[in-house]
Amino acid sequence: MTLAAPLQAGDRRALAKAITLIESTRADHREQADALLTELMPATGGALRLGISGVPGVGKSTFIEAFGLFLLAHGHRVAVLTVDPSSTLSGGAILGDKTRMEKLSMDTRAFIRPSPSSGTLGGVAEKTREAMLLCEAAGYDVVIVETVGVGQSETAVAGMTDLYLLLQLPNAGDDLQAIKKGVMELADLVVINKADLDPAAAMRAQAQITSALRLLPTHAHASQRVLKVSALKGDGIAPVWDALTALRAEREAGGAWAHRRREQSLAWMWERIHAGLRQAFTAHPAVHAQLDTATAAVREGRMPASTAARHLLAAFESRSLE
Ligand code: GDP
Repeated sequence: MTLAAPLQAGDRRALAKAITLIESTRADHREQADALLTELMPATGGALRLGISGVPGVGKSTFIEAFGLFLLAHGHRVAVLTVDPSSTLSGGAILGDKTRMEKLSMDTRAFIRPSPSSGTLGGVAEKTREAMLLCEAAGYDVVIVETVGVGQSETAVAGMTDLYLLLQLPNAGDDLQAIKKGVMELADLVVINKADLDPAAAMRAQAQITSALRLLPTHAHASQRVLKVSALKGDGIAPVWDALTALRAEREAGGAWAHRRREQSLAWMWERIHAGLRQAFTAHPAVHAQLDTATAAVREGRMPASTAARHLLAAFESRSLE
């Protein structure tokens, strides 16, 4: 029984099952998942892939709900996936709360799936990336990938999406943090939320972020890249969509859209190869046998790090001779 047909016919349960399959760590499931993904590949790629991040409390779920409902009203089908770095650290989940986006989750034209609950950030991000492909095959034409603002997960999300939107609070300290962390550089669009609370502060933040963006070489048209919204009141949502579609049109025309996707796919392939090699390396019996001694020798300054690395790599490479 293949999941491909019902999934492509829009059956949300088949999609949920398929995502569970790709999240499984069992080897036979992985094989089935690879076969399914390969079968569905021709049906993928059709969505606008949008990354959204921001610090806890900035209003991500409120914004995604308002934005998602807006998109549904305009004839789109929306999937929301999350990359929750907290689940990989503590087993807890910042973004896993079932009550988030209540209205959106009740609508049959939307699909919401929380982050895989275990694994390294790279592993979780990879599952999310595959889930995104499944959502595309299931006909969702806007796939939102949400993450919390803690640095690395934002880079992972920006690396799997076409456009990356950073939600900000209207206060300068928060903005400076984002600029410092380089997250601002990743952002195609900066959206200042909660503009209803203090319109003057939101205006100041908009001006500050716009001038900060002008300093970055990658940001042409900085003034069109910083918007204000009130997710709670639903104000300013349409201009966000307009800005995203304008960016898409501009990049599609210039070829940058397709180029980014190609580069992302290759980067993911190498990321997974590196992760697989690292795992095979540490699990290799000969490496395993020497690792503690070598680590201690390097730590205590008895052996140069590069020599230890060479010995361990030689042990790894000798496996075919065993
Ligand atoms: P998340 O942690 O980033 O997902 O943030 P939430 O969407 O859960 O929002 C955090 C809090 O901010 C909630 O109490 C929201 O009601 C509130 N909030 C979100 N957006 C707005 C907004 O535009 N204006 C105001 N006044 N409050 C908002």
